Amino acid sequence: MSSGAPRGQGQEIRLSRGASLSDFADKINANPGSLVQEMFNLGEMVTATQSVSDDTLLLLGEHLGFNVQIVSPEDEDRELLAQFNIDLDAEVAEDRLVSRSPVVTVMGHVDHGKTKLLDAIRKTNVVAGEAGGITQHIGAYQVHYEHNDEERAITFLDTPGHEAFTAMRARGAQVTDIVILVVAADDGVMPQTVEALNHAKAAEVPIVVAVNKVDKPDANPEKVRQQLADYGLLAEEYGGDTMFVNVAAKPGTGIDELLEAVLLTADASLELTAPVDGAAQGAVVESHLDKGRGAVATVLVQKGTLRAGDSIVAGGAHGRVRAMLDENGNQVAEALPARPVLVLGLTSVPGAGDTFLAGEDDRTVRQIAEQRQARRRAASFANSRTKATLETLMEQLKEGEKTSLTLVIKGDSSGSVEALEDALFKIEIPDEIQLKVIHRGVGAITESDVNLASASSEATATIIGFNVRASNKVKEMADRANVEIRYYSVIYQAIEEIEAALKGLLKPEYEEVELGTAEIREVFRSSKIGLIAGCLVRTGLIRRNAKARILRDGTVVAENVTISSLRRFKDDATEVREGFECGLTLSGFGTPQVGDVIETFEMREKPRA
Ligand code: GDP
Repeated sequence: MSSGAPRGQGQEIRLSRGASLSDFADKINANPGSLVQEMFNLGEMVTATQSVSDDTLLLLGEHLGFNVQIVSPEDEDRELLAQFNIDLDAEVAEDRLVSRSPVVTVMGHVDHGKTKLLDAIRKTNVVAGEAGGITQHIGAYQVHYEHNDEERAITFLDTPGHEAFTAMRARGAQVTDIVILVVAADDGVMPQTVEALNHAKAAEVPIVVAVNKVDKPDANPEKVRQQLADYGLLAEEYGGDTMFVNVAAKPGTGIDELLEAVLLTADASLELTAPVDGAAQGAVVESHLDKGRGAVATVLVQKGTLRAGDSIVAGGAHGRVRAMLDENGNQVAEALPARPVLVLGLTSVPGAGDTFLAGEDDRTVRQIAEQRQARRRAASFANSRTKATLETLMEQLKEGEKTSLTLVIKGDSSGSVEALEDALFKIEIPDEIQLKVIHRGVGAITESDVNLASASSEATATIIGFNVRASNKVKEMADRANVEIRYYSVIYQAIEEIEAALKGLLKPEYEEVELGTAEIREVFRSSKIGLIAGCLVRTGLIRRNAKARILRDGTVVAENVTISSLRRFKDDATEVREGFECGLTLSGFGTPQVGDVIETFEMREKPRA
């Protein structure tokens, strides 16, 4: 059976990962419908604009005789940058490399103390001795530590958890050099401990184990060592090459030893060097839109030097670096490799894990950003389905019986999540509305949050991100699943908006607003349209399709009547005003009489207090 799709003879065609049959059709000058038919014949039902799997593209290519090459987003980006003569992997002369500090991510099972540990490390900024210590949460910070009489820096990404780590890796940003695996000594190895371990191994990142909560009476740090040995992490004291350090993050003990261990591990197994020359490259660690400052992004420089005034492109965002701030809120003029800085001046918010680079000039970075945006738009258009907004969600809820707002709350610390949740439950809401929090947690918004939100039985849950973000991958997934994610950085703002949403969830209350009255002066019969009432509008106006009731001698003789047609002389009219005559027909009332009064009104939604 032939469907008219052209046959190739082994010609190569390049398609982006996630392309649709339409994209395929474009490349071979075919009608997309013919490819839908071909796929149907091959036993797969897909629409022309739907993004399809690599396998489907390859299968169809083979079937039609084309050699399909699937281009990954990373390759595509390299090709794009090559157009601007930018080569991210350009060789650097050995003597232009300098040593840089290690970049550490803290991972481990929930409640094992990742956040507390990061807090404790932040407080030990011994050498730098900033008066107030690290005050700003910018998503990453650097601490200085004296090691072998030498001041060394260590960079910590303070979005704990392996989701952020894998999300960044998935986007091509390999920023972590060392993973600190936190295991609570009173709880031992748990499922997420193993997951984190596997992620670190997959990324070939060395691990330092922080055996935490050793201050607890039921702590058993030896057991943690034994358990992890089963997963291939053998402690040095047992002849292995993994450093285990006993710590207690809450009281802050063992932190120095942990930092030592990080430096020793870095020196033993990694060669941490980077070029300082040239345009900066790196990755976005965190970003958000700030009310006063616009788009702000914390970037980690990986190569080269970033300077205030540089033109940069980060994912699909671009701009000129207006100012750079460190984790102490101090302005810095330049950032060398492994230095996280908060960058002001981007025109839009990039995603966590997006790579950034400084370009020649504003024009270059703008063009790169625009091309990336265009590509993303094309990709998301292919995948687009109707996207839920809070408004459409509210519409759905208005229509249906569902009157609950279901939330998943993610925040940057357990304190902020609790504070937000407490405040939300203090909002005064009417009884018919229910606010439910089905999950709460610390860290970036993850795929499992989206899964949970979309799987929620009542209504699709909305995900609230308080000072945390979702990676673009998770965002895309949320879009596909019609899960809405809302970001906040100020509690009162979150409360205000959620309160407004809850009020919006209430079924609207309507009130009757009188439009006008008309008196029937004559009644005609038309063979086509039935009874026509010739009226004089006494007050206000009469509007076509308006609701009406009929009064006869001051009593209501009919309700639920509609003005089904309205004419002024021979012409259809939408409304006729006081003092004018009109002809109208009434549906829902079959016996109009001269002298009847038609009272018309409209139902309007009552604004809520
Ligand atoms: P995360 O989910 O891994 O980020 O864990 P958190 O840092 O939020 O810690 C979970 C709980 O364990 C909190 O109640 C902490 O106060 C507590 N905790 C963390 N570290 C220690 C510790 O060293 N000793 C004790 N006793 N409690 C700790």
